[in-house]
Amino acid sequence: MLINTVTEDALDWQETALCAQAGPEFFFPAPGSSTREAKQLCGACEGRVACLEYALANDERFGVWGGLSEKERERLRRKEREQG
Ligand code: SF4
Repeated sequence: MLINTVTEDALDWQETALCAQAGPEFFFPAPGSSTREAKQLCGACEGRVACLEYALANDERFGVWGGLSEKERERLRRKEREQG
């Protein structure tokens, strides 16, 4: 999810971020709500891979980033730790 307060330079992917036009409720759904629509939008976003890498590198805990939910990113982080 695109955050307006991010000030790092290497964030070119944000220029094509489809979520910039969608409401935050899409990407930060209430607990138990579906993330399906956000993931569909991510699937069509040019910056999806860079967005996911950013979220993993910055340990973003909340919301959908790069097409993955919080739980899915945590699973990915755990898998990467296990593989060393
Ligand atoms: S991949 Fe999803 S969360 Fe990331 S910039 Fe694109 S639309 Fe936004």
